[in-house]
Amino acid sequence: MSIKTIEFVIKGMTCDHCAQTIAKKFQGKEGIANKDISYPAGSGKFEYDPNKISKEEIAALINSTGNYRVESEMGNEDPEADAGKAKTELQPLTTVGDGGQFDLIIIGGGSAAFSAAIKAESLGLSTLMVNAGLDLGGTCVNVGCVPSKNLIRAGENAFHANHSSFDGIKPKGADIDFAQIIKGKKQLVTSLKEKKYVDVVSDFDNLTMVAGWAKFVNEKTIKVTDTEMPDSPAKKYKGHKFLIATGATPSVPAIEGLKDVPYLTNVSLFDLEEQPESLIVLGGGYIALEIAQAYHRLGTKVTLLQRSPNVLSKLTPDISNELIKNLRNEGLEIQTGLNFKQVSEENGKIKVQAKKSGEARRFEAEKLVVATGIKPNISRLGWEAIGLDLTQAGHVAVNEKMETNRSHIFAAGDVANTPAYVYTAAYEGKIATANAFTGAGHKTDYSSLPWVVFTDPQVAGAGMDEAEAKTKGIPFEISRLEMKDVPRAIAANDTRGFIKLIRNPNTDKLIGARIVAPEGGELIQQLTMAINYGITVKDLAENLYPYLTLAEGIKLAAITFGKDVSELSCCAS
Ligand SMILES: Cc1cc2nc3c(=O)[nH]c(=O)nc-3n(C[C@H](O)[C@H](O)[C@H](O)COP(=O)(O)OP(=O)(O)OC[C@H]3O[C@@H](n4cnc5c(N)ncnc54)[C@H](O)[C@@H]3O)c2cc1C
Repeated sequence: MSIKTIEFVIKGMTCDHCAQTIAKKFQGKEGIANKDISYPAGSGKFEYDPNKISKEEIAALINSTGNYRVESEMGNEDPEADAGKAKTELQPLTTVGDGGQFDLIIIGGGSAAFSAAIKAESLGLSTLMVNAGLDLGGTCVNVGCVPSKNLIRAGENAFHANHSSFDGIKPKGADIDFAQIIKGKKQLVTSLKEKKYVDVVSDFDNLTMVAGWAKFVNEKTIKVTDTEMPDSPAKKYKGHKFLIATGATPSVPAIEGLKDVPYLTNVSLFDLEEQPESLIVLGGGYIALEIAQAYHRLGTKVTLLQRSPNVLSKLTPDISNELIKNLRNEGLEIQTGLNFKQVSEENGKIKVQAKKSGEARRFEAEKLVVATGIKPNISRLGWEAIGLDLTQAGHVAVNEKMETNRSHIFAAGDVANTPAYVYTAAYEGKIATANAFTGAGHKTDYSSLPWVVFTDPQVAGAGMDEAEAKTKGIPFEISRLEMKDVPRAIAANDTRGFIKLIRNPNTDKLIGARIVAPEGGELIQQLTMAINYGITVKDLAENLYPYLTLAEGIKLAAITFGKDVSELSCCAS
C-alpha cells in the first residue's frame, strides 16, 4: 500500500470546533490513514491511500460541510513529481487529452444532469456537462412535461368554453387560434429553459458546458463530437467520476411500414403550428392519453389506438375503465386490443390496418403520433467499451445508490432502470453526485412515490395497489369512495371518478392510494406523506378537513373502510 500526503488550505474555520466538525466527516472513511485538521493553521493534512480515496474526494468531503471550503492545495502530495514546489492554489488536475480533466463528467443536459451539476458546484467539484440531441434542459422543458401540460391547459380552456356542468350556463364556444397557442407554448418553453436551467448555472465557478455527443473511449475518458462545430475534430476529456444522464427517446414499435411514413412523436408534434384536422395517436400510456385529450379538446379529430386491452395497462382495470368511460363520453375515439398489421401513407393520409378479435379494422388520419413508450439513450455512449451492465430493457443498471457495475460511473434519470419522471431524475442526479464524492451512501426510496396522469379526470397514485400487495404477499383491504359522495364534487356538478385507499388491516396503515378525479393529482401528495410516515387510516379519518374541499374526499374514503358514507350527515366523522 503506498500512502500519500496532501495538505489543503481550508477557509471558513473560526474555532477548534470547526476543525473537529471537518474531522468527523472523515471518521471511519476508508483510505484515510491519518488526518490533522488545524484551526490556527487554517489547514488540513491527510495521509491517504490513493487506491481507495483520491485527493479530489478528500477536498469534496471538506467542501460538503457547506461552511468550510478547500481554498488551495499546499505541501507536496507527490514528492518525486513535485519536489520543491510550494503550491498556493488547488492545482488544476493534470491535463490529459485535449479537452482537460474534471472531477465529474456529466453526460446529458436534462433534469438529472442539472441537479447533479448543482450538487457538484456545492461540493466545489470541477465539472463538465456534455449535452447534445435536445436543447439544454432535456426532455421535460423542451418536449415533455412543460409543452404537454401547457397544451392540456389550453385544451381544458377550450373544453370549458364549449361545455358547462350547470343547466343555467349555456357555453358559447371558443374561437381557437391554434398557431397562436403553439407560439405561446414556444415562448413558455424558451422562458422556462432560460430561467430554470441556463440562468441557474450561469454563475457557477466550476462548471464547463460543452455541446456535443459524448462517447466512452475507455473507462476514464470520453470523446466528444462537437455539434456546434461538426467539422472540428472530436476532443477527449478525462474524468475522475462520471454520471450518465442521457435520458430516453420515444421508442417506435416494429409495425410494418411505420418507419416509411412521416410519423410524429412528442419531439415534433408540439411544434406544429398548423392544426392537424385529424390525428391517430398510437399508444395507451400516459403520454398518449394526455396528447390525445389535449388535441381532441383543441378541435382535432383524434383516434387513440392501443394494443393492450386496457389503457394505462400497468394499472388495475377499474382505473382504465373509469378513465376510458370519461374520455369516450367527451367524444374521444379509443380503440384497444388491436393487433397492428401495417401502416401506410396514401393520398396524403396515414392509414393503420389492424385486427381486433380476428376482424380487420382500418383507421385513417391526416397525421400519426407514435407514443408507445420510451427507450433509454445508450446507443451513442460506447457502453460496450467500458463493460457497463445494462438491464434486459436496455437501461443502465443501477442500484439504489445510483451506482453502476463500474465503481466510478453512476447513472440517473430516464436512462437508468428507475421510475421515469422529472422529479425522480433530479432526485437521482443529486444522490448520485453526493454518493460519488462524499461517500454519503444515500439510497433512493420509491415505496411511496407519487405520480399523476394529467388527463381530465386525472389519474394519480402513490404506493402500491391491490395487485402489487397481493403479489408481495402483503395483507390488504380496499375502500373505494365514489366522487358522487364528495361534497366538493356534488357542488361542482362534476362527480366523475373515485378515490381508492389500500391499507394493511393488521396495522391500519395506508400502503397505497389511487385516484381518478378532476384535479385528483392535487390530492396525492398528502397520501404519499401518509404512506411515508406510517399514518393510519384512523388518523386520516379523524383529522379535520375544510368542508367542500376535494381533500375531504380522503377523510371520507378513510371512513369508508368502516361505514357507508352516503348515509352520513354533512361534515360527519
Ligand atoms: C410528453 C411527455 C410528458 C411528460 N410529462 C411529465 C410530467 O408531467 N411530469 C414528470 O415528472 N415527467 C414527465 N415526463 C418525463 C420527464 O420529461 C423525464 O422523466 C425527464 O425529463 C428525464 O430527464 P433526464 O435528465 O433523465 O433526461 P433528459 O431530460 O431526456 O436529458 C437527457 C439529455 O441528454 C442528451 N443525450 C443523450 N445521449 C447523449 C450523449 N451520448 N451525449 C450527450 N448528450 C446526450 C439528450 O439528447 C438530452 O438532451 C414527460 C415526458 C414526456 C415525453
